[in-house]
Amino acid sequence: MQEAIIELVTGIAKDLLFVSTITTIEIPMLTKMNKVDYDNLLKKRISNTAKEEKSNVDEKIKPLLKRIEETTNKNNIKYINKNINNLKINKDYFLLLKGWTGSYNVKDNKVNIVNDDALYHEIFHVLSGEYDKIEDTIYDGFLVSNKNGKVGIGLNEGYTEYKASTTFRNGKVKAYKKEVKLAKIVEEFFYNKKDMEEYYYRHNLPEFIYYMSQYADKEEIKSFIKDYDLMTNTNKLLSQSPNYYYVRNLIRLNKWSESNNLSPNQKNNIKQLIKK
Ligand SMILES: [Zn+2]
Repeated sequence: MQEAIIELVTGIAKDLLFVSTITTIEIPMLTKMNKVDYDNLLKKRISNTAKEEKSNVDEKIKPLLKRIEETTNKNNIKYINKNINNLKINKDYFLLLKGWTGSYNVKDNKVNIVNDDALYHEIFHVLSGEYDKIEDTIYDGFLVSNKNGKVGIGLNEGYTEYKASTTFRNGKVKAYKKEVKLAKIVEEFFYNKKDMEEYYYRHNLPEFIYYMSQYADKEEIKSFIKDYDLMTNTNKLLSQSPNYYYVRNLIRLNKWSESNNLSPNQKNNIKQLIKK
């Protein structure tokens, strides 16, 4: 009897929590900001970062940086942020309690890691991260976060780990496996893969959505981003089943892959990746 009640209560609590996560993960930046506003912000940020020279770079990350500069598309190097200047790197074993091996706080420009391998992933957050004091908004790759909400964490983690694995580990993925798989498939929708990389370094989620809307309705793309976020939500207890959102997104990608805007080669690559 008591067990049945506990089950019932946890069931209700889960549903309530589920509703609250849905409402907190919104896409305010995408609906409120128009494209011109966004482009102006980006221009301002790029001109600010491009002027900075490398200084006070930790010895540990110099070889990583060299490798990233070698493997990044030449046009995109100018979009890489200079947060490596005065970057603070700390060992923090308490991260393990959250199931993490690393984290990056762009406001303090501080990386916490449990081992050096975690740097391979975090360095990409560092180089694609930017804190806008005036807006009190964090931009990190495809992630945008401020008091209105957070959006893009799923795609951002997937693409970040994908970059870490191809740049430093011969393709070995160590975290966010499902997120990486989705990111790899998404990348196939880009005729020029450097474009996706550019959106990442320029924190340009709106442009990403705009680009993808040639394959599906814009609202569908936003739902894809939202499901990606729910799947990755770092507080896993809050979301029902990460697999549910994952499968829903695979189905979407499969459907979009039928678009006539894709080459037969792209279509084939996408089908193969989905099957894996
Ligand atoms: Zn990460």
